[in-house]
Amino acid sequence: MIKTVTMANGLAIPVLGFGTFKAADGEEAYQSTLAAIKAGYRHIDTAAIYHNEKSVGQAIRDSGVPREELFITTKLWNDAHSYDGAKAALAASLERLGLEYVDLYLIHWPNPKALRDCWQAANAAAWSYMEEAVEVGLVRSIGVSNFMVHHLEALKQTATITPAVNQIRLAPGCYQKETVDYCRRHHILLEAWSPLGQGEIFTDDTMQALAKKYNKTVAQLALAWSIAEGFIPLPKSVHKERIVENMAIFDCEISPEDSERIRCLPDMSAIPDPDTKDF
Ligand code: NAD
Repeated sequence: MIKTVTMANGLAIPVLGFGTFKAADGEEAYQSTLAAIKAGYRHIDTAAIYHNEKSVGQAIRDSGVPREELFITTKLWNDAHSYDGAKAALAASLERLGLEYVDLYLIHWPNPKALRDCWQAANAAAWSYMEEAVEVGLVRSIGVSNFMVHHLEALKQTATITPAVNQIRLAPGCYQKETVDYCRRHHILLEAWSPLGQGEIFTDDTMQALAKKYNKTVAQLALAWSIAEGFIPLPKSVHKERIVENMAIFDCEISPEDSERIRCLPDMSAIPDPDTKDF
């Protein structure tokens, strides 16, 4: 059983999640999600914009694992940053997933291109519906994704619920220190998207040497490091053997010195700028 940590709202979240970005709706998303749950993952990360909620939800329902033992996240896309938009988007996500509630609902992106001059008000309006969705039981926890400090500070002006998590890009060679420090200070749990980087970590000399030292693969080392940092990594794979490999990390205790070496690796991945990205 994957252990859990407690979010600031008192609810538990499994420390490792299964990513589904680019898992194509249909057999690929269905079979890989099913394989992940069979392998022991209890935390699944999808999003409206991944266009695979239908197959992911089907796999969840077919897995035979009781719903209350699973932790399911989906996300509000950029076309629905308003009170009514969020209400309709969550209803549509639940319908596609075939679920009565999700454990975590995230604002996917803080500053959509179409809202560059009013993103603060748009996030506040979407968030006010998300708070209501918690009250009526459609979601257990609410959070954000790709929010930097100024986005979090803006949301704070009107929010009555603090985001439980902020899902951002975090991996060896991709450490968003300012956002990480802020979230830690404000008890916002960090989820790590692309925790395996975009391939660069696999050829990095330090990662290779440390993986050998700990008798792990580079992927396993990166995930064990992420958890040691207090992040919740969300590795994605559609291959059964990698899905299993990415779970075999809980016997890997990285020394503080080696954790520091990984934390200080030079930048390997570009972090998308939420205020200028073209979507
Ligand atoms: P990732 O870091 O999980 O890397 C995925 C790639 O790594 C896969 O395509 C696979 O080819 C490879 N891989 C997986 N396991 C491996 C192993 N053991 N050995 C070698 N290669 C392996 O990247 P990702 O999918 O971009 O991110 C993970 C998850 O994070 C996504 O699926 C999604 O759920 C979430 N995500 C969120 C956002 C966001 O904006 N919130 C953005 C991107 C991803």
